[in-house]
Amino acid sequence: MKAKFSSRELFDLRNTIPVDMLIRDQLQLPSKIRDGVFRFLCPVCNEFQTAVNPNTNLARCFRCEKNFNTIDLVMTVRGCGFKDSVLFLKALRMPAEEPKALVGRFR
Ligand SMILES: [Zn+2]
Repeated sequence: MKAKFSSRELFDLRNTIPVDMLIRDQLQLPSKIRDGVFRFLCPVCNEFQTAVNPNTNLARCFRCEKNFNTIDLVMTVRGCGFKDSVLFLKALRMPAEEPKALVGRFR
């Protein structure tokens, strides 16, 4: 069975999940801030010649000359397919929205 995701949904997953947080907290790749730029161990070449661009929400490896969006990264790091990667990211978004709701409720 083929999973269908709307382009709006995919756009949101690529753009509303900060790629640096995804790398550090969810995928748990080694990472560091150097020269004010978030860098991570490239899951393809295992080098730190990387950077995250907060404006485009893309992670780039200069050695592989490859950009990763959030969906690409999950696929590469977890070795899963597109559909599983999207489901993984969708599951992440829900807890992220919860604290706001809690704040409202207890104020
Ligand atoms: Zn690389």
